[in-house]
Amino acid sequence: MRTVDEHLTAVLGTLGPLPPLDVNLLDAHGCVLAEDVVATRPLPSFDNSQMDGYAVRSVDVASATPQTPVVLPVIGDIAAGSGGVYSVNNGLSVRIMTGAPIPAGADCVIPVEWTDGGVARVRIDRAPSPGLFIRRTGEDVSANETVLTKGTALGATQIGLLAAIGRARVMVRPRPRVVIFSTGNELVDVGVEPGPAQISESNSYALTAAAREAGAIAYRVGIVPDDPTKLMAMIEDQLVRADLVVTTGGVSAGAYDTVKAVLSRLGTVEFLKVAMQPGMPQGFGTVGPDSTPIFTLPGNPVSAYVSFEVFVRPAIRRMLGVLPLYRPLVRATLAGPISKPAGKRSYVRARIEVTEGVYVVTPVGGMGSHLVADLAMANAFVVAPDTVTEIPAGSTVSVMMLERRQS
Ligand code: AMP
Ligand code: MG
Repeated sequence: MRTVDEHLTAVLGTLGPLPPLDVNLLDAHGCVLAEDVVATRPLPSFDNSQMDGYAVRSVDVASATPQTPVVLPVIGDIAAGSGGVYSVNNGLSVRIMTGAPIPAGADCVIPVEWTDGGVARVRIDRAPSPGLFIRRTGEDVSANETVLTKGTALGATQIGLLAAIGRARVMVRPRPRVVIFSTGNELVDVGVEPGPAQISESNSYALTAAAREAGAIAYRVGIVPDDPTKLMAMIEDQLVRADLVVTTGGVSAGAYDTVKAVLSRLGTVEFLKVAMQPGMPQGFGTVGPDSTPIFTLPGNPVSAYVSFEVFVRPAIRRMLGVLPLYRPLVRATLAGPISKPAGKRSYVRARIEVTEGVYVVTPVGGMGSHLVADLAMANAFVVAPDTVTEIPAGSTVSVMMLERRQS
């Protein structure tokens, strides 16, 4: 039997970031840059107005005060997006809008609030300093400046910057494509009324959503029966679009545990026991001509989900090249007691809340690996060490935050 950490180390040791790919800007969101991005033009790319107002020569308005306003003729309007047909000579002004290019001759913009807003002539009652309210070419980014470096995670503001400098595509570590399917003759898809002894399949839905939350492109294949030929055909079919395969079910010691039977013969998948609860039977290895990594998770829904959180999520993050790999761990005060088996690390479904500045965590529901309603209530797992069996209320425990719905 392996410890959780040993298994995680073994898994992560075989995975690395995917090869860089040139993608559309929005497809790069949430990915890591695989190039240094250099601006090809300055930003702003021309001197433009920071205000709605009047472009003037500051010397012409130097004497303006509320008591001694200066009145200048207005020779025209420049809207954002319009070209520079005007030039401002001695004693003239041009009405100008935010973002419009500064006309030749002008060296500042008087905001409309300092004036009477005139159209043919304008009364100005405050003196500007030269350069006032002009956004200078290159003051944000200069031409040939490196704006983002390789390894930067692209969030909304970085995507905005890339667009501002005119980049339509960038090289990133792409999102891993994760193919998810479930095995079991008892499973029917949602929307189909289960017959006697059948159940609605839920793992592939939960894990597809979880894989997306982790940053992957997830393809839900759905249900494969416990039939070796069909399972083989399905895996082979799906490999073309998979950077990672995740299956659930069929890996315990039952007579129809097909995943184990098929993959033990093929590829390099190793089936083993990990000292954790839930989620003890685990499988990991590679399949197919490209040695595509595959996780075979247990079928019980809570076991499948916990296994995903503990092993698959960090694997997806490693393939994406992003940090942090792991969910945040915090120390919290335990509000109710925990009993657990010896020799295994338990992941106990719980709700964590901040009460008067301290984390307080309350276990929810039972230990059964089929209890999905309790799982959906939980927003955290208490991570209880393998060495203990009883943890009394009031103890300080380690808690893995799931960053899901908080209320
Ligand atoms: P297995 O690991 O295939 O032996 O399945 C263990 C338990 O989990 C059984 O009660 C299955 O019916 C249940 N189970 C397996 N796969 C799924 C699934 N995809 N959705 C919901 N329950 C499942
Ligand atoms: Mg099964």
